[in-house]
Amino acid sequence: MSAPAILALDFDGVLCDGMREYFETAWRAYRRLRPSVAPEPPRGLFDSFARLRPLVESGWEMPLVIHAVLAGASEAELLSGWRPEAWRRDIGVPRDTIAAELDSVRDEWITADEQGWLDHHRFYPGVIERVRRVAGGPTRVAVVTTKEGRFALKLLRRQGVRLDPDRVVGKEARRPKREILKDLVARHAAGDAARLWFVEDRLKTLEDAARDPALDGARLFLAEWGYNTPEERETARRDERIIPLSLARFARDFPVWLEPGS
Ligand SMILES: [Mg+2]
Repeated sequence: MSAPAILALDFDGVLCDGMREYFETAWRAYRRLRPSVAPEPPRGLFDSFARLRPLVESGWEMPLVIHAVLAGASEAELLSGWRPEAWRRDIGVPRDTIAAELDSVRDEWITADEQGWLDHHRFYPGVIERVRRVAGGPTRVAVVTTKEGRFALKLLRRQGVRLDPDRVVGKEARRPKREILKDLVARHAAGDAARLWFVEDRLKTLEDAARDPALDGARLFLAEWGYNTPEERETARRDERIIPLSLARFARDFPVWLEPGS
């Protein structure tokens, strides 16, 4: 099949680079969890955070990345085995509380300064044009993200991309991406997983989808321009289910995505 019936796209690290926003939001949320911390982040923390971003599956882990770095953990140690639950216990706050702090920081920021919030994000070159082109054709586009869907919708709308809210499935769905993908296959591809293509920058999420027999035949692409490490990209190259995808290929027509070599 040279074009999918459904193209499922992750948001952060595939369409949008919101690194400055993630850090600012995570820092503000962390300060609420640890009010004794200094108001300004220490020098170098942003760069560490950016290098460690591939660890993060869901937003609630971001303040914990900050916590771990400030607690003195080395980047190498964190990259070789990220244990968000252990760091969460160390900070002593329930996961839902951290997630709620993060969303309320975002909501308050948007209310106070929407333009500033939007300006802390940038879309990767060419992705908006590509999504518009796909959305104008026979392939359905869906966005599958671990952030609240309404935040992703707001950012896409600003770019003039108007997807139905039911095509943007976020954290509010409270289901793993693999389950959301299966639901998309059932609803829009008559149960044929081979008609689904999924672009994601987090290797573990793709591996999780690859292990699910109900997703046999689905094309799983690792977005090499997103938040993943050279080691993860190398692992993806050796995995027969996962197809590494460059940003240049993403911008081109579907058959090119399947051509050998990168
Ligand atoms: Mg991502």
